[in-house]
Amino acid sequence: MLRMPAFEVHKPRTAHDAVLLRATLPDSLFVAGGTDLLPNLKHWLHQPKHLVSLLDLPELRGITREADGTLHLGAAVTLHEMATSPLLAEIPALPLAASLVAGPQHRRMGTIGGNVMLDTRCLFYNQSEEWRKAVGYCLKKDGDWCHVIGSGKSCVAAQSSDTVPVLLGLGARIRYVTSEGPAEVAIVDLYEKDGRIDRARNIPPSALVTGIAIPPRASGHRSTYRKVRTRAAVDYPQLSIAVITSFDGSILTDLSVVVGALLPQPKIVDLDGMTGVALDDAAIAAIAERVFKQVKPQTNLHGAPEWRRHLARVETARALAQLRAL
Ligand SMILES: Cc1cc2nc3c(=O)[nH]c(=O)nc-3n(C[C@H](O)[C@H](O)[C@H](O)COP(=O)(O)OP(=O)(O)OC[C@H]3O[C@@H](n4cnc5c(N)ncnc54)[C@H](O)[C@@H]3O)c2cc1C
Ligand code: SF4
Repeated sequence: MLRMPAFEVHKPRTAHDAVLLRATLPDSLFVAGGTDLLPNLKHWLHQPKHLVSLLDLPELRGITREADGTLHLGAAVTLHEMATSPLLAEIPALPLAASLVAGPQHRRMGTIGGNVMLDTRCLFYNQSEEWRKAVGYCLKKDGDWCHVIGSGKSCVAAQSSDTVPVLLGLGARIRYVTSEGPAEVAIVDLYEKDGRIDRARNIPPSALVTGIAIPPRASGHRSTYRKVRTRAAVDYPQLSIAVITSFDGSILTDLSVVVGALLPQPKIVDLDGMTGVALDDAAIAAIAERVFKQVKPQTNLHGAPEWRRHLARVETARALAQLRAL
């Protein structure tokens, strides 16, 4: 049996109190659905003395449309609520990505706040204490060496959230609050190059994510999400691809491809010059080739890097063909 370290749970009723508790209690962490954090505690990846629960904060609930058309997702909205939301149906890739996270129980507990703040993942890290000790630990936790890149300089554990590539492609912004007040950061700037927990995100460690703002889409929006994993349920992505487009008739007017489950930062593929044309088979092949060339999987996750890279091309082409047919 994997035992967790002992901790005390606190249940604030306002975001302000949650931030205050997190800032003042030593060795504290936020917990929302707990579907990422609690397994990590069983592996002794963190030893908090206090958990500040986010499940009783009304300010973090609900999916709403703001006056300028922005969609706001409260951080405590569950993945199941996202997957079944009538409002989000206008952005097909997002409820689709939410519906592919883990299994049904995880999606009813797991939140979008926890999904964007998911710890980076690696074959050498998401293991029991005994397993990690046997290989001399690693740079991300208790050691000084990265077994993936063979150096002690940085951690390349993968950002593995299903919704994040989609949110990047949509130009979403993260709304958060600290003891200094509310703030926002573009999600593209949230993730850093180093996957260590204290360096992976570009907001203060004690920041409470309150919601996610998704700007209005261009007209003719079509989007989808492809997830590569060994089993068709429960597994984390071994590669994930969000394809966000706009069409004017058969002409591709806007295109964004974001690939996840690679490195601590999702990869925004440079597709300059690929729009303004009909999305015929040649255009699809050219876009898929660009993705293949720019994607370089590591040995941080299951699946040979060459195989995952090959699938980046295959899945991009499948996604584009699917969107063309709509
Ligand atoms: C078997 C299994 C399979 C899984 N498969 C997938 C998968 O395929 N794809 C995927 O994306 N995820 C997967 N997950 C992870 C998880 O279910 C989801 O990522 C979920 O969205 C996490 O949300 P949560 O509310 O449970 O987060 P928690 O576990 O509560 O928190 C996760 C992290 O985010 C922080 N946090 C949470 N909310 C906030 C907030 N509002 N502000 C600041 N910090 C916050 C916590 O402190 C913690 O560090 C899987 C988990 C399990 C156990
Ligand atoms: S990428 Fe390297 S440092 Fe990071 S978790 Fe994996 S082995 Fe550890």
